[in-house]
Amino acid sequence: METKLRFLYALQQVDSQLDELEDFKGELPAIVNQLTESVNSLKTKITELEAEIKNNKKKSDEADVEQISLSEKITKYKKQQYEVKTNKQYDALTHEIENSEKKIEQLTNDIIILEGNIKLGKEDLEKLREDLKTAEQELEEKQAELDVIIKENEEEELKVQHEREKLVARVNKQDLATYSRIRKAKNGLAVVSVKRNACGGCYNSLPPQKIQELRQNTNMFTCERCGRILVSDTIVEGSKNLL
Ligand SMILES: [Zn+2]
Repeated sequence: METKLRFLYALQQVDSQLDELEDFKGELPAIVNQLTESVNSLKTKITELEAEIKNNKKKSDEADVEQISLSEKITKYKKQQYEVKTNKQYDALTHEIENSEKKIEQLTNDIIILEGNIKLGKEDLEKLREDLKTAEQELEEKQAELDVIIKENEEEELKVQHEREKLVARVNKQDLATYSRIRKAKNGLAVVSVKRNACGGCYNSLPPQKIQELRQNTNMFTCERCGRILVSDTIVEGSKNLL
């Protein structure tokens, strides 16, 4: 039990050191993540808008081609009207001409709407490209700031990470799970020592009986108030040899 507690306390020390190194980076990792998301989202929007503009352009071109073809048909029908023999045939051609003219008018409206959308799309696209440029520049700056800090801490972080790996290998899975759960729930602090007869995590006073039992290092005790694992000074001293 004593060994187990020593390893857990040592693991807490190492994790606290890693937390400190992480804190040193401040808000930068979060900012870099957020900016990366913005950049990706803007790129997606730009791609989608480019496709939409291209599609509207295609539809407008098709409407153009159809209008030309309809105009040619009207010319042809008008010519045929001189050659027909019956009124019925003449009226049928008039009907065709009217239909084609109506279609041309409809297509003209379609083209106006499509061209309007294309114009608006291009304006939006320009704005999005500017936003992307700004976000990319900002990302580059923040990433560079973060890289400097990471580089400065790299050596120490690697050393501490290595120590952590060695300790984790010595702690059984169940204890590690308990430790991780408390650490997550209690702001990174899962194992604390007894300070002035109180829990080193929440400063709740401990009954003398409990302190005495705790000093025997034969059981794993948790603080009744905050749930953190409590260890005696012997454990604290002993854990120093592990690091
Ligand atoms: Zn406590």
